[in-house]
Amino acid sequence: MKKILIIHTGGTISMKEDEKTGAVRPHETNPLHDTTPSLKNLGDIQVEELFHLPSPHITPVEMLVLRNKIEEKVAKEQIEGIVITHGTDTLEETAYFLDLTVQANVPIVVTGAMRSSNEIGADGLYNLISSVKVAGSDEACGKGVLVVLNDEIHTAKNVTKTHTSNIATFQSPQYGPIGIVTKRGVFFHHAPTKRTTYPIQQITKNVILLKAYAGMDESVFQAIQTLPLDGVVIEALGQGNLPPRAATGVRSLLEANIPVVLVSRCFNGIVQDIYGYEGGGKQLKEMGVIFSNGLSGQKARIKLLVALELTNDPQQLQEMFME
Ligand code: ASP
Repeated sequence: MKKILIIHTGGTISMKEDEKTGAVRPHETNPLHDTTPSLKNLGDIQVEELFHLPSPHITPVEMLVLRNKIEEKVAKEQIEGIVITHGTDTLEETAYFLDLTVQANVPIVVTGAMRSSNEIGADGLYNLISSVKVAGSDEACGKGVLVVLNDEIHTAKNVTKTHTSNIATFQSPQYGPIGIVTKRGVFFHHAPTKRTTYPIQQITKNVILLKAYAGMDESVFQAIQTLPLDGVVIEALGQGNLPPRAATGVRSLLEANIPVVLVSRCFNGIVQDIYGYEGGGKQLKEMGVIFSNGLSGQKARIKLLVALELTNDPQQLQEMFME
């Protein structure tokens, strides 16, 4: 049997609904501990409770602690597969952070639940069992960090939470899942083509994410320049365009040597320098804006946080965002 480590970090999967008030929240003890015996036939299971946090409380600092824990456990205890339980709200950000920074070559699966442990139709234990199966599968090796919920296997790079409450919330728009989990086993039908990892030791930068809208002007750019600021990600319009006055704001950030990464607020496609009008992609590219290759805003922010630990050279950053 494979040595599988389960690391709990919190989230709805670790919460209970209060029968009187209906409030879902963490309790002193994690209800997932009672579920460990039902996993014993799936592997040699070790459990560690690293955090007991709702995922809106998770920051890049906790993500780095989690990354370090994974590296330490794989190096010292020959762990062969890892499952992380996590709140679903920021699950995709933690999963992508791990995808970018973990060097250890074992399957890493991140999972969660949409219904807490004592609600009707609770999906936590089911997702945990599916995830342990995936983490123990030889085929899961070399596919980067995976996200498993609701019988589907997604890549950390492409998956996103698409629904506020439905248990089928995790989807990979444009790409789809790369495999499924069934009663009989784990089946992969696609594989990611490449993965680059970045060996960072710390996470110290401040990167802000902005969303473009009709009529956006320079004021928000002026306001954020009064903060300690190392980089900005903008979810631009369509193919990668901004309102003219927002482009003026971007110019002032670039003049202050603050890197600006562009993604699209469309959730399919990639940004490109196509349009030649004021605020269009061509002008933004000529100014020195870094174009990303299809990441969502929240994932581009994670990538810029990681990349800025290694360089703030605009050319190198552009190359990293094309990988
Ligand atoms: N708000 C919860 C969290 O992210 C949602 C969940 O876990 O499903 O912690």
